Amino acid sequence: MAPTPTGINVIIVGAGFGGLTAAIECHRQGHNVTIYENFPALKTLGDIISFGANGGRIFARWADGAIARKLRSLCIDLTDYGFRIHKYDTGEVVYHQPTPPQREEAPVFNGHRGELHEVVFNYARDELGIPIHLGQHVDEYFETEDKAGIVLKSGERVEADIVIGADGVRSKARELVLGYVDKPKSSGYAVWRAWFSNKDMIADPRTKEFCENGDTFNGWIGPDVHFLFSTIKGGKDCCWVLTHKDEHDIDESWSFPGKLEDVYKVLEGWDPVCKAIVEKTPSLVDWKLVYRDPLPTWVSKHARILLLGDAAHPFLPTSAQGATQAMEDGVTIAVALKRGGKDGVPAAVRAHQELRYERVRAVQKTGESTRDRWHKTDWETVKQNPKSIEFPREDWIHGFDAEKYAEDNYDEAIKKLAIKQEPEEETAPLAAVPPAVVV
Ligand SMILES: Cc1cc2nc3c(=O)[nH]c(=O)nc-3n(C[C@H](O)[C@H](O)[C@H](O)COP(=O)(O)OP(=O)(O)OC[C@H]3O[C@@H](n4cnc5c(N)ncnc54)[C@H](O)[C@@H]3O)c2cc1C
Repeated sequence: MAPTPTGINVIIVGAGFGGLTAAIECHRQGHNVTIYENFPALKTLGDIISFGANGGRIFARWADGAIARKLRSLCIDLTDYGFRIHKYDTGEVVYHQPTPPQREEAPVFNGHRGELHEVVFNYARDELGIPIHLGQHVDEYFETEDKAGIVLKSGERVEADIVIGADGVRSKARELVLGYVDKPKSSGYAVWRAWFSNKDMIADPRTKEFCENGDTFNGWIGPDVHFLFSTIKGGKDCCWVLTHKDEHDIDESWSFPGKLEDVYKVLEGWDPVCKAIVEKTPSLVDWKLVYRDPLPTWVSKHARILLLGDAAHPFLPTSAQGATQAMEDGVTIAVALKRGGKDGVPAAVRAHQELRYERVRAVQKTGESTRDRWHKTDWETVKQNPKSIEFPREDWIHGFDAEKYAEDNYDEAIKKLAIKQEPEEETAPLAAVPPAVVV
């Protein structure tokens, strides 16, 4: 059923998963939405990306499940294989984590970022008819009490009721919201990443087992290093990521090239199969994991500009939640705007932050805790309790329904904001965080 039009005009800057989800959800809730994106044409960039069941629940609602079905065919299927966790030096499997059954209403997706992005992008543009202006670099943001807008490189100004800055880790919108340039710091770690076809892997007797019998997922855990290797699309594509210590401070980029010799040095003394996998790699990316202190706010002074996704809160890959949390943001702002109405946009934007802030912080922390658990493994404890090394899939994260939560808690968020304006009263944060999470 078509939604009731709200008359709210929304500009979204950035057509990543955050911006596209916000656009699709705004469209679903009856707002008029337009995207401005810097890249001139769609390209299948990146490598492995993960969406937890809380992201899958969002995809599953689009086009009566047709989008989820398209994504499924591109993603890893670990129903039979599970996740095998090895000790880095001996190579022994210390824990075999089974894959939970896929739930149709909330499936999990792991696949090539560019391929999945293309499905979502085409759905937004071609099926829903959302205008996506490519090759449009947004140079400036502005707002008044009644409206917000952007200035494009061409000098053209465009206005709307709200601007959503979904412009990624190097967000320009963030400068306006914060009033200063928020520089990233090194997190002390970097990730080498690669994606390639199985041609050489299948020709090598040491590695062919990973490509012959469908999809696989293996992890080797070492001191301050972990190496994850998966084969996808029935074992046709291979992908690995290796997280290691690195103090270099460089830009947050996906395209910085890496060197295999550096990887070999880190893998000295490791299970030889790791090098046998890595040496098949035609090219790799060296991605420095930067850290940002949590932003004090995602909302501009007049609450007409909102930061969303990585622009507001970058995640470590060990949370496997960066893209999913960007999607949850998109769902939440779309619901909040519907509930606030055209005359209540600033209140809706502030309510969005109230609904999201504590949850995002809590999920962000899981990226650090999983990394630390793996990088400082006590092998005696693992011997006693192998499950202690598993990749966590907590219910308060994965069982969450962002749309229902926003609908159920919007009024409460508005009340809390009103109380916050009375300084003598203390407010407790809304639940959406562990342990008392409503799903
Ligand atoms: C090219 C690319 C490849 C990636 N590959 C992976 C990967 O392999 N694995 C993984 O886990 N994550 C990857 N990511 C990051 C991942 O997609 C995000 O962490 C997550 O999906 C949150 O997305 P987002 O929409 O908040 O930000 P992003 O995905 O970063 O999207 C931000 C968008 O805003 C656009 N933009 C930025 N500034 C402006 C401007 N001034 N004007 C107009 N548009 C602007 C960018 O071009 C980009 O498309 C990649 C991101 C990019 C951009």
